[in-house]
Amino acid sequence: MKSKLIPFDLETGKIPESVQDSLKRHISDLAGIFADTDALNAMAAEDDRLVYEFYDMGMPETEGDLAFGTSIVYPGLVGREFFMTKGHFHTILDTAEVYYCLSGHGVMMMEDPEGHVEYQEMRPGEAVYVPGKYAHRSVNISRDQKLVTFYVFRADAGHDYGTIEQKGFRKLVVENGDSYAVVDNPRWGENT
Ligand code: MN
Repeated sequence: MKSKLIPFDLETGKIPESVQDSLKRHISDLAGIFADTDALNAMAAEDDRLVYEFYDMGMPETEGDLAFGTSIVYPGLVGREFFMTKGHFHTILDTAEVYYCLSGHGVMMMEDPEGHVEYQEMRPGEAVYVPGKYAHRSVNISRDQKLVTFYVFRADAGHDYGTIEQKGFRKLVVENGDSYAVVDNPRWGENT
């Protein structure tokens, strides 16, 4: 592996196309992820907005390497829930990750298999350390700005999206006046 110098756009999170894998998730890709199914279906039928995307450096998934890139969550609500990523555990469960906030205002929601929940608000210039064993999801709590974060974790950790797709997170991040609230997920554990 050679050294690299990679420019990141702090506002958009974009990195040069030659060095990235990108992935986009629209409303219709997120059925079962947001609690308010009626709101989600209506939004999917209306304009099926882009909810989040990420740009990964595409590093080899080998022991000793680091995977890194950017995650961009757009502002919006599905019912009362803020736009967010699906969230995942790592396949190698005890794998930590760092997220550094480049722009916007967000919450990193985390929970471990035993049900311990942690969350951290993040603003530009702040890093969140996601401990090993914790599933994690980025939530954009701004009404008008993108949430852009830089992430890095061991490249061979892998992703387990299925557990969250089946059970959800125990807590939801919802609008609350001009701010946000963390509330119990009424549908947690349902096999959606
Ligand atoms: Mn991760």
